[in-house]
Amino acid sequence: MTSLPPPSLRLDLDTGALASNWRVLDRMSGTAKAGAAIKADCYGLGAAQCLPILREAGARDFFVAHWSEVPGALAHCPPDEIAVLHGLMGRQDADFARQTGVRPVLNSLQQARLWHDAGGGVCHVMVDTGINRLGLAMDEIGDPILAKLGIDVLLSHLACADEDEPMNARQLDAFRKVIAKVPHRRASLANSAGIALGSDYGFDLTRPGLALYGGVPRPEMAGELRQVAYPKAALINIRQIEAGEGVGYNATFTAPKPICVGVVSLGYADGILRSWAGANLLSDDRALPILGKVSMDMIVIDLSAAPELKEGDWVELPYYLPDAAQQTSLSQYELLTLLGDRFRRDAV
Ligand SMILES: *Cc1c(COP(=O)(O)O)cnc(C)c1O
Repeated sequence: MTSLPPPSLRLDLDTGALASNWRVLDRMSGTAKAGAAIKADCYGLGAAQCLPILREAGARDFFVAHWSEVPGALAHCPPDEIAVLHGLMGRQDADFARQTGVRPVLNSLQQARLWHDAGGGVCHVMVDTGINRLGLAMDEIGDPILAKLGIDVLLSHLACADEDEPMNARQLDAFRKVIAKVPHRRASLANSAGIALGSDYGFDLTRPGLALYGGVPRPEMAGELRQVAYPKAALINIRQIEAGEGVGYNATFTAPKPICVGVVSLGYADGILRSWAGANLLSDDRALPILGKVSMDMIVIDLSAAPELKEGDWVELPYYLPDAAQQTSLSQYELLTLLGDRFRRDAV
């Protein structure tokens, strides 16, 4: 087939920053080792691009959510380094885990029995210490089935690690009870934000996700973590509009004076939602305000600050996540995982 022309959307990935973020989080984890949450295609940035970098940096414990994410991970790391957080929905999941050597995270007594009956093998077990999503309830941790499993990582998940809430200490206490009761090889409690709560929260293994990819879950981590994802889009049209003319659907912007506007190849189908309205795109640090509504595949910007730009030139979306979250009212997690697959993900 003839080769595809170059795309008009790029997601430049600063792989040096990604590796540095993992090393920073590993160091902050103290005597614990940092793993990596790689679910949702490495939070939208691309497992194919990110996984080799994380592994090269030193990560050896990788967490996906779905079984469907396993083949992508297996292309870059051995099966015993991959854990599937959603656990076992039935015998097919258990058989798949045993055949591939990937570790299920068992989330209930039913799943523990299913794993045991399927032949068992090394697994991980999640206990719920208060978030009330996945995991065994505290009153189930004495169940005899648990002693029959080969539990590698015993884990729990913090609900409020990004805030200074008494709930963090309550979950820590509960998790200590779990560790004392359930036989296991390694214990793991902290996500990205949990790593900053102090060495008490580290145990043997931490599970950062957001902070690897440039998110800043707690302000005190800001100085250490580097931005990884840089979305860029091409100008696909430039036009002069007259005073009084409207821009875009419902003409929500009306030009107060003649202006030069650019149409950028970027829209809500790419994850740049309408909550970006009113923000600026950038060209060499010059602000190019978004005019009117965000369309599915296009955003119109004011080119007054960069009059030399022409069709085919590139502009940037400001994607320092704490600021972008403030600007759009989206969470830093949403801002990463929304980025669509029309972006070409380039390691730079
Ligand atoms: C997603 C997830 C993580 C990573 O959380 P971040 O807040 O992104 O660091 C860790 N553990 C579990 C169980 C998760 O689901």
